[in-house]
Amino acid sequence: NRVLVTGGAGFIGSHLVDYLLSKGVYVRVVDNLSSGRLEHVSHHFGSKLFEFVEGDLKNPETALKAVEDVDTVFHLAANPEVRLSVTEPIVHFNENLLATFNLLEACRRKGSVKLFVFASSSTVYGDASVLPTPETHEVKPISVYGASKAGCEALLSSYSHLYGFKGVSLRYANIVGPRLRHGVIYDFIMKLSRNSRELEILGDGSQRKSYLHVRDAVEATVTAAENSPSTYDCFNVGNEDWVTVTEIADIVSKAMGVKPSYRFVATVKDGRGWPGDVKLMLLSIEKIKKLGWAPRLSSREAVEETARALVAELGL
Ligand code: NAD
Repeated sequence: NRVLVTGGAGFIGSHLVDYLLSKGVYVRVVDNLSSGRLEHVSHHFGSKLFEFVEGDLKNPETALKAVEDVDTVFHLAANPEVRLSVTEPIVHFNENLLATFNLLEACRRKGSVKLFVFASSSTVYGDASVLPTPETHEVKPISVYGASKAGCEALLSSYSHLYGFKGVSLRYANIVGPRLRHGVIYDFIMKLSRNSRELEILGDGSQRKSYLHVRDAVEATVTAAENSPSTYDCFNVGNEDWVTVTEIADIVSKAMGVKPSYRFVATVKDGRGWPGDVKLMLLSIEKIKKLGWAPRLSSREAVEETARALVAELGL
């Protein structure tokens, strides 16, 4: 096996790289280090099984070099900031859709790739009318980020049907754990490190979502890659419970040993954090469970472990 992990210096990608290398798999990482960090993979420098290429997948030449001689692609490179897509849609068009198109084109032209796994997102469903939301629910994103992910899934579906490789899209819930550098837990920790007496919370705090520990997410990713039965398929990857934003504020405050007052900034209708924020997210995971995977930690446990890990990592 020769594996490409795009975005492998990022949060989920670097944990996937650790896992694959621990199994003796050859791994090439391509990352432009826009949000990823070299320190997330530098412990593998010197390993014969590991290759790091600094490059940007918006460049078609980089994409061609990236897939050279690999049989499996885990495509995680993207801009993961849902909020940014509201004010700068072009970023998500380029970083997500264009980069994915370049990579799929490279797979078509080089021909060695047999399996392409794409990191999609629960945001493709938008405000789902059914909770827990199954994969058969209609795709109706309410953020440009979600739209870019839905577009990438559609491209992968068509490329896998046309050009002889298997495609798997994984619709991740919120993934959390060590090395996380974006999202609500990290934001709260940063805010509290600046001012431990008051915490600004975007929205009314009642937004309720499902969180999955990155160790569980990596196992789900590999399970789906190895066992997905069809030419193309998509799987939800999440947890069976969910927590509110206010509960996360409580967990983070406790991990930091502080007792702030909460200031809710609810400027968007029905208490969302920002326009395009999905208020309720809980995915049905029945489909991927049939492949033999189940989460080990609950949403609450995953958030608690992440808060503790980040506080330690950041030296707070
Ligand atoms: P991350 O920002 O830590 O990782 C993304 C990586 O991609 C970074 O290392 C970044 O430098 C790299 N990258 C971005 N644009 C690139 C480009 N044009 N060329 C090469 N490299 C590029 O984010 P993450 O949380 O690890 O997310 C990984 C993937 O999973 C993303 O596709 C994200 O959209 C998706 N996802 C994440 C979550 C989550 O909760 N973390 C949820 C759903 C989906």
